[in-house]
Amino acid sequence: MLIDGKALAAEVEAKTKARVEKLAARGIVPGLATVLVGANPASQMYIRLKHSACTRVGIRSENVMLPEDATCEQLIGRIRELNLRSDIHGILMQLPLPKGLSPQKAMMAIAPEKDVDGFHPVNMGALLLGAERLVPCTPRGIIYALERLGKGLEGAEAVIVGHSNVVGKPLAAMMLNRNATVQVCHVFTKDLAKHTRDAEILAVAAGVPALIKKEMVRPGAYVFDVGISRVGDKTVGDVDFDAVKDIAAAITPVPGGVGPLTVAMLLEQTVQAAESQIA
Ligand code: NAD
Repeated sequence: MLIDGKALAAEVEAKTKARVEKLAARGIVPGLATVLVGANPASQMYIRLKHSACTRVGIRSENVMLPEDATCEQLIGRIRELNLRSDIHGILMQLPLPKGLSPQKAMMAIAPEKDVDGFHPVNMGALLLGAERLVPCTPRGIIYALERLGKGLEGAEAVIVGHSNVVGKPLAAMMLNRNATVQVCHVFTKDLAKHTRDAEILAVAAGVPALIKKEMVRPGAYVFDVGISRVGDKTVGDVDFDAVKDIAAAITPVPGGVGPLTVAMLLEQTVQAAESQIA
């Protein structure tokens, strides 16, 4: 079965739009500010996608742009201005930042209640403690899809390839919070296939095209391909989709899988942030 990320995202958007309308009845329009430093074309594209998604559900959004050579003080200064604005409920700093700027320092400047990407240490800490508030959007999208597919996590063997702060680590924490047995693999893992073959649920976020081949996947697995790479003029994931789809119970395509779900979760979290700020 194909996990249709676009369809699942449309469903989340419809629910989010209804919540936006409820807020509008109280005179509140949720506001998202994105912060983009420099002119990385991929980052610009992601920012555009996020803003047009906001427009679809009635979230007001604006983009704060800083030059490539902006200093850490300038970036933090702009973030602090956004923290103080009552019409901005969510702040997202587009990564990666240009060299020389510390994402950790900048992330710490975002008010935790406006941290709709869920990367602030306060939100990450809450996640680790099993008290999820705002969480990273890609893992949240994967958990949402599993819930919608009726694939329970309790007691499930889950394997994650990739241990980044953005995907692998928070996803592991979210799966543990739901009582899965979780293995996390990465570039130093000695025998990747030995681990991936255990997976009832396999999530791959390495950024390495065709890393996961059919013989590395347990038949009947739920496979989430997070990777996004350009190969020639094609966008591909980390999983050899054509071969793996024949043995997986369910699999996300690239594009049209985890990506749209990630954006939908950002919208949902922006509304969640607005609701909790006005409560
Ligand atoms: P990252 O570069 O921070 O981390 C990559 C991870 O993969 C590391 O843990 C590394 O050890 C591991 N890895 C690399 N090569 C490996 C190998 N050969 N075998 C096993 N593990 C290996 O990346 P990230 O930010 O987590 O992103 C990973 C991929 O997911 C990228 O392609 C990125 O574009 C994509 N991504 C997609 C979405 C989405 O919404 N679809 C969101 C975030 C990231």
